[in-house]
Amino acid sequence: MKHIRNFCIIAHIDHGKSTLADRLLEFTKTVGERDMQAQLLDDMDLERERGITIKSHAIQMNYLYKGERYTLNLIDTPGHVDFSYEVSRSIAACEGALLLVDASQGTEAQTISNLYLAMNNDLVIIPVLNKIDLPGAMPEEVKDEMVDLIGCERDDIIPASGKEGIGIEAILNAIVERIPPPTGDPDGELQALIFDSQFNSYRGIEVIFRVKNGRIRKGDKVKFMATGKEYIADEIGTLKLGQEPKDVIECGDVGYLISGIKVAKEVKVGDTITNLARPASSAIQGFEEVKPMVFAGIYPVDTSEFEELREAMEKLQLNDASLVWEPETSAALGFGFRCGFLGMLHMEIVQERLEREFDMTVITTVPSVRFEVITTKGETLQVSAPADMPDPSSIDWIEEPFIKAQIISKAEYVGAIIGLCMDKRSVFKNQLYLTADRVELQFEMPLAEVVFDFFDKLKTISRGYASLDYEFLGNRESTMVKLDIMLNGEGVDALSAIVHRDKAYEWGKKLCEKLRELLPRQQFEIAIQAAIGQKIIARETVKALRKDVLAKCYGGDISRKRKLLEKQKKGKKRMRQVGNVEIPQEAFMAVLKIN
Ligand code: GDP
Ligand code: MG
Repeated sequence: MKHIRNFCIIAHIDHGKSTLADRLLEFTKTVGERDMQAQLLDDMDLERERGITIKSHAIQMNYLYKGERYTLNLIDTPGHVDFSYEVSRSIAACEGALLLVDASQGTEAQTISNLYLAMNNDLVIIPVLNKIDLPGAMPEEVKDEMVDLIGCERDDIIPASGKEGIGIEAILNAIVERIPPPTGDPDGELQALIFDSQFNSYRGIEVIFRVKNGRIRKGDKVKFMATGKEYIADEIGTLKLGQEPKDVIECGDVGYLISGIKVAKEVKVGDTITNLARPASSAIQGFEEVKPMVFAGIYPVDTSEFEELREAMEKLQLNDASLVWEPETSAALGFGFRCGFLGMLHMEIVQERLEREFDMTVITTVPSVRFEVITTKGETLQVSAPADMPDPSSIDWIEEPFIKAQIISKAEYVGAIIGLCMDKRSVFKNQLYLTADRVELQFEMPLAEVVFDFFDKLKTISRGYASLDYEFLGNRESTMVKLDIMLNGEGVDALSAIVHRDKAYEWGKKLCEKLRELLPRQQFEIAIQAAIGQKIIARETVKALRKDVLAKCYGGDISRKRKLLEKQKKGKKRMRQVGNVEIPQEAFMAVLKIN
């Protein structure tokens, strides 16, 4: 154990975590030059393209320091707020963290929230000032911020550039010198923390764990304490570029376990593995079931593809245990699924994976949070689909989820940000100057407002400077109403939304206007109406198309005509016919585009 160091890298998105990890792997010759490709830890295509790390992974390096061989386990953490529970479990598997701050940006919301997580877990923090090669770097100012934030000495901060390979050796040395070796009882009962898993279609689910006490041997009978399931440790090993099978993983070390587990739900991040013959008396603290926070319907564009979509969803769930879904029927869209996601990014990722990996074309309905409806009969209903909202006469009160939002921005945008947050029904809690020019603001706000386009607006009014992080606070009473949309007198359930009463009129009006822009003109007039219950609160009209579009081609130019037809066909891919009206996908998300 004396020669093991477990660490993670915490950073705001884009501050260079993946790039720095690549350099550490190169420097320690964990990967040969031949195998080196940018951002090695982000192994899903989607992650690489979006430049984000979705799942945490672990990788082991060997490092020779003053003649002694050290094992360094780098535990990668996802950088996005949707995945904060996974971040917290990765942090719990480490004794130290590199805190990476972009020298041209300074500390951001995720830097701070992850730093607090690390400090709560008593991790040793190694401050790294990254991207010092950038012409726009402000090393002195950002160092001031870091000293204030962490309470470290100025000299503790290691200047680095992942891109140029500056400071890499200093960082590795600091990992050995400053981070303590793991503690724990090697002869005690086995307690191993599951902090990640990945799906392998041949071998089942691979569980990634950190041994806190005891040791795990190949062939051991083990038990997962939260699920109560028992398995045989068919294969265990360490993770380098690939898997390296071992006979034993000792106390303090990180490894993987394969035992033919087929169902992602059986492997819960935060669960404890123990030995069946000699079980630990308690599990490692901090286990939580992750709960979906954002819900939306997903429907195949082509109704005949429902079964295919089901198969795709089942496969997706194999390696994404946080995705939940159940079948749902919509009068407008037919058969589909109501899905629960950790957050908006998670929702986008699922949608994109369905399209790329499974070649499905899907329609996603307006995302919603989960409301708690207390009926006059005293029942509590969980409502995340507008269609499930009971009649107002049977509702006693409604509660909605609130979050604590932390926003960091340049001082000049504070006024605009406070204005935006107030408009989003927020309660202003606190304001703290990090430096003369950078402010941290705290609000309590309804999660539903964050779901509706908040992040984009925040970025716009702060010219990209503001960053956001949030945590769930709990449910609070709110007066919500269901806003319905009718097209030519016919209700389109998939366009309904649950909104706050004070905003319902404005929303209805704007939503109708937006739909008027988004609905393509057809051979007949389309009346768009917004209603609360029986009461119509807004109306717009899409005028009928005068002439056949093709008439414009005068029958002359065949290739032009064909092109036009093809273009229309393509455009149709994401359309849904409801009654006699064609509705494009954008219309189902129109509520997100309202200003
Ligand atoms: P992550 O989101 O924290 O994993 O950040 P990445 O490693 O993906 O880096 C984000 C962007 O910053 C990429 O375009 C990198 O090429 C760039 N980058 C990373 N490290 C450095 C650095 O040290 N210097 C400069 N100039 N750019 C960097
Ligand atoms: Mg990354």
